Amino acid sequence: MSAAPAPPPFTLVRATGRVTPAAFVESPNCDPRPPGARIEVLVIHAISLPSGRYGGGHIERLFTNRLDAGAHPAFAEISQLKVSSHFLIKRDGALLQFVPIHLRAWHAGASNFRGRRRVNDFSIGIELEGCDHDPFEAVQYERLSALARFLMDCYPAIRPDHVVGHSDIAAGRKTDPGPCFDWRRLRAAVAAAGGAAGRPDSLTGASHIR
Ligand SMILES: [Zn+2]
Repeated sequence: MSAAPAPPPFTLVRATGRVTPAAFVESPNCDPRPPGARIEVLVIHAISLPSGRYGGGHIERLFTNRLDAGAHPAFAEISQLKVSSHFLIKRDGALLQFVPIHLRAWHAGASNFRGRRRVNDFSIGIELEGCDHDPFEAVQYERLSALARFLMDCYPAIRPDHVVGHSDIAAGRKTDPGPCFDWRRLRAAVAAAGGAAGRPDSLTGASHIR
C-alpha cells in the first residue's frame, strides 16, 4: 500500500476534448475522426528520444514538429515525421496531452486490431516515456492505470480487452511498449473498468465530464 496521496481526479471537457489535469501541448499532427467512428481501443506505446535516454523535451518537440534534426544523430531521420499521441506519461508521472480526445492522433500508423485497419480512427494513444530495456517507473503505472480507468468510464466501448500495445496492432513493425512493460499490472488495474464489464456504476465517469 502506498502512502502517496491520490492524484487529482480527471475531468474531460467535452467542448475541447481536453483532460485535466494533463498539461496541454497542442500538436498539429491530428485530424477529425471518420464520421461515425467510436472510441473503442486504448493503444499503449513507449518512446524515448534518443532511445533509452529520458528528459530533454525531445518527445514534445517531435510531436509538435519542432525536433532539431541536428541535436542528435538519431533525430535526422525522424525529425520530419508527422506523429503525435493523445497522451504522454513521463518518467516522473507527469501527464501531457497533445491532441483533443475527439480528434484522431497519428500514433498507430499502419495497424490492425482484430481485422480492422487504421486503428487511429477508433483509438486513443498513450505514450509512456520508456524503451525496450528499462523497467517503467511505478508512478508511470499509477498514472496510466488511473487514466485508463477514467477513459474507459468516459468511453465504455473501451473494454478491458481493448487495451492493447502498439506491438499488438503493428506486429512485426513495432515492439513498444516492449518486453519490460508489465501487462499483468495494467490488466489488473483495468479489469473492472469500463461499461462493458457490467459495473453498475460504469457511468461514474460522467460526473467528471463537463
Ligand atoms: Zn508506438
